[in-house]
Amino acid sequence: MPDATMITSPPLPLRQCGSCTLCCKVYDVPPVGATAGNWCPNCVAGRGCKIYEIRPQQCRDFLCLWMTQDYLGPEWKPEKARFVLTMDAATRWLFVQADPGAAQAWRKEPYFTQLRRWSAAGNRPVIVFVRKHATALTSEGEAVLGEIAADERLVLRDLGGGRQIVEKHRIGA
Ligand code: SF4
Ligand code: SF4
Repeated sequence: MPDATMITSPPLPLRQCGSCTLCCKVYDVPPVGATAGNWCPNCVAGRGCKIYEIRPQQCRDFLCLWMTQDYLGPEWKPEKARFVLTMDAATRWLFVQADPGAAQAWRKEPYFTQLRRWSAAGNRPVIVFVRKHATALTSEGEAVLGEIAADERLVLRDLGGGRQIVEKHRIGA
């Protein structure tokens, strides 16, 4: 699960998780042994958290983008879209963390066109993850980056003329 620095806004007044529990499936939550792509052992899918009162801080702090951004309509709610959207507050990169049970759902409409539109806007790549496997959408189109190891990070490389690609770099290399 991304950390709280990725969250750029408070929740919208009328947005509620309701029956959505997808963020309890698609992210690593080390304190409870949850791994990306598998339901957290504490999650009752569609209902909520069995240890809500004592859930980890990582879970308390998390809000997906749908919870905070009113430009994302009901079709972007994660339980319907089958992916969770977040934005890095510093870089404004968008992250799509897909439900492995519907790993291609982001390619459906209206999502694909809108994700491509955001990625083509410049300086804002969209990175689609299925577990640790990443695909980058940039002004140059789509690039499969493969598995991202714990000691790797993603870097935006400017090719000039408004052209950009995302590369994997080993930390410290
Ligand atoms: S993915 Fe978003 S809407 Fe769904 S449970 Fe998590 S925070 Fe709530
Ligand atoms: S501990 Fe609870 S809130 Fe956190 S991922 Fe597991 S089910 Fe979700």
